[in-house]
Amino acid sequence: MRKKVLFLLMIFSVALSAQIKKTTPLTIDDMTDRITYGYREANNRKIDIIVIHSTYYVNADSFSVQGVLKQFKQYGVGAHYIIDRDGNIRMMVKEKDVAFHAGKSELPGTNRRMLNTNSIGIEIINTPTTPPTDQQMESLIYLVQDIKKRYPIQYVVRHSDIAPGRKTDPWCFNWAVFNQMLEYSQSEF
Ligand SMILES: [Zn+2]
Repeated sequence: MRKKVLFLLMIFSVALSAQIKKTTPLTIDDMTDRITYGYREANNRKIDIIVIHSTYYVNADSFSVQGVLKQFKQYGVGAHYIIDRDGNIRMMVKEKDVAFHAGKSELPGTNRRMLNTNSIGIEIINTPTTPPTDQQMESLIYLVQDIKKRYPIQYVVRHSDIAPGRKTDPWCFNWAVFNQMLEYSQSEF
C-alpha cells in the first residue's frame, strides 16, 4: 500500500515538473517600494531558511491580495513574497531585509529562535479549507529553487514546523508531494 502511494506521488511529481519546465521563467512583481510595514531594514544578514505560509483576507473576498496586504498592515506583519491564486508572485519585502512573518518560533532540532532574522517568508493565498492551486504550487517551486540559487538554504519549513501549537499553516498543503516536486525540479533550474 505504502509503495503504491509513493509510486503515485512520483508520477504526479514528474508530471508536474514537466509542466513547470513549460511555464518558467515566471516574473516577479516587485512592490517593495510601496510597502512601509511588516519589515525592518537589514544588511548582510545570513539567509539559510525558507518558511512557507498560508494567508487569506478575513472577508468576503478571501483571495484578494489587497485585502491580505490591508491585514498585514493592520497587524504590522509581512513576508518577502506573496503568491496569489493565479500563481503571480509579488515581492513585498526585499530579501536583504527582515520580514515579520514567523513570530515566536524555533527551528526543530536546533536551539535557534527568532527565525525572521535568517529566513525568507513566502505566503500562499489559500484558506484552511481551500488548497493552493496548481499555479500556486508551480510558482512556489520556481520561487524556492530561485532563492536556493542565491543563498545556501539549509531548511525549507512550514510555519507550523517552527511554531507548533500556535500556527497550523500552510493549510491543505501536501508536504510530501511538495518535497517530491522540489526534488524533481532541482535539475530543471
Ligand atoms: Zn504563517
